Amino acid sequence: MNTPAIIPRELHFISRTLISENALKVLHRLKDAGYASLLVGGCVRDLMLGREPKDFDVVTDARPEQIRKLFHNARIIGRRFRLVHVRFGREIVEVATYRAIPRDITEASSPIEPPENEVTENDIPAEIMDHNVYGTQEEDAVRRDFTVNALYYDIRDFSVIDYVEGAVDLKRGILRVIGNPESRYREDPVRMLRAVRFAAKLGFKIEENTAAPFRCLAPLLTSVPPARMYEEVLKLFHGGYALETFELLRHYGLFRHLFPLTENSMEREEEGFPVTLVPRALANTDARINENKPVTPAFLYAAMLWEPVRHKTRELVANGMNIYDARTRAAEQVLREQLRFISIPKRFSVPMREIWSFQDRFERRAGMQAYRLLENKRFRAAYDFLLLRVESGEANGALTDWWTRFQTAGDHERRAMIAAVTPAGGKSKRRRRRGTRTPPVNKDESTTP
Ligand code: ATP
Ligand code: MG
Repeated sequence: MNTPAIIPRELHFISRTLISENALKVLHRLKDAGYASLLVGGCVRDLMLGREPKDFDVVTDARPEQIRKLFHNARIIGRRFRLVHVRFGREIVEVATYRAIPRDITEASSPIEPPENEVTENDIPAEIMDHNVYGTQEEDAVRRDFTVNALYYDIRDFSVIDYVEGAVDLKRGILRVIGNPESRYREDPVRMLRAVRFAAKLGFKIEENTAAPFRCLAPLLTSVPPARMYEEVLKLFHGGYALETFELLRHYGLFRHLFPLTENSMEREEEGFPVTLVPRALANTDARINENKPVTPAFLYAAMLWEPVRHKTRELVANGMNIYDARTRAAEQVLREQLRFISIPKRFSVPMREIWSFQDRFERRAGMQAYRLLENKRFRAAYDFLLLRVESGEANGALTDWWTRFQTAGDHERRAMIAAVTPAGGKSKRRRRRGTRTPPVNKDESTTP
């Protein structure tokens, strides 16, 4: 066994005021019952940096049943690796038993935190599984992903325990994978995405050997189940650092394995100008998150896939299809292709497609059509999307100005605005039916492609 470096309380800056009261309660209860009781992972990393952690992960040498007995508000989750959730209202403190290094390839290739409901090896009794999955503190440290994510904060004496020189990397701002980079990414390709995410969020540099295999192993990302990718993509782009993350993903050749159609569209210049809608959308998303405004995956995916949809639509129109049918067809095709890599739940893919179809419907303003669009619950998101298209130089600014004015105009002005865009003789009836129709929803949109 290697002796870890111990950083005593006077040599680090973890302030207990940044630790949630509930996490402290859990830590003390475990300690008072005679078990090892430590914080670990992202929360220790963030505390050492003086940042407020998102959530708190506790580790102990107690087994799940022993942990559960200590808390009335606890339940055991997971099957292959069981851990305990202690619930305090909306906050959940996760308590895990020290975990061993996966011994066989099936375990090694599975995500480190299996989804709560994942059921595997139903027929193996828990005690036998326990023997294989629980380990020592050192084993628990070295099976983690990055050195800065493998620090422990011991509630007994408030020291930080470090088996992997994580504290040095933390001080220098370096993200370094634990162990052999290539085999760690083969075990779990998502670690490449995590590296980029942490580098963007913390402003850290990815150490050379840690980044070296990215380009070569990036294709492994396509073997990650789309449902897990969906979760990871949200962490990448809804964490408040989407723009940096996106740039790093592209820099390392990872992005093309998440959004291949988008990557292709970015390589195509538009009349000599690079296409900027995606970076602009991500910058908007970051700004909204920093202002505590809500964000939705529907908008994120609408932006990511817009260029491919637009390109496909244009091809279909060039072949004689009308714009509405072309848009619908293009949306279906692009979505179907994208779902091979990342699943998008229907509750987001349906509004995503509505945002797209609105882009054509915004043109149709005669008669009652403008009022109908304005009343539609998707209006706001679609209008924001239109603004984004104008900013990136793709859509017509005059149309956007019209809609901006129409939203705040009084009755009288609205009537005048509509009259001005209604063809002489009010010939809008024939078009109205098509124009206000929502494109049919295709079965291919389900979570699993
Ligand atoms: P965040 O601030 O995003 O929550 P985090 O470091 O806490 O970052 P989590 O996904 O919450 O990340 O995971 C908690 C800890 O579990 C990590 O710090 C790391 O030690 C370990 N871990 C998570 N995922 C993996 C993985 N795929 N491979 C190895 N270790 C992992
Ligand atoms: Mg975490």
